[in-house]
Amino acid sequence: AAASQADSDAPTLFDKIVAKQIPATIIYEDEQALAFRDINPQAPVHFLVIPKDRNGLTRLSKMDESHRALVGHLMYVAQLVAKQEGLLPGFRVVINDGPEGCQSVYHLHLHIMGGRQLTWPPG
Ligand code: 5GP
Repeated sequence: AAASQADSDAPTLFDKIVAKQIPATIIYEDEQALAFRDINPQAPVHFLVIPKDRNGLTRLSKMDESHRALVGHLMYVAQLVAKQEGLLPGFRVVINDGPEGCQSVYHLHLHIMGGRQLTWPPG
């Protein structure tokens, strides 16, 4: 059977954003990570934090011990840029994993949302 999208190592849309082949509003960049605004924001502030090199992380559930420092760094960048974006009153960090988690791009990414009162639980 064909590999599902979730298992594919083919380049993703986000690889093209990293390579600056397609435009995005980049708000943070370092050697390992990139943060840019979501094209379809679900809150007044909604940005994504991704590893520049996916390192096999199509989704969070592909993580193994070799990814621990990288994933920790993504979390560090999430809160750093949240502060930069004025989200200190509070914000949300989400990772969608797989079809039932509503993941659509198979390149690990953290969603950071804020700028309004959020509600819980999400749909
Ligand atoms: P997922 O559903 O995989 O957790 O989230 C993928 C996110 O990527 C969605 O929130 C979607 O709006 C965002 N997205 C999809 N295509 C693009 C794009 O071309 N540029 C940007 N900036 N965001 C995108």
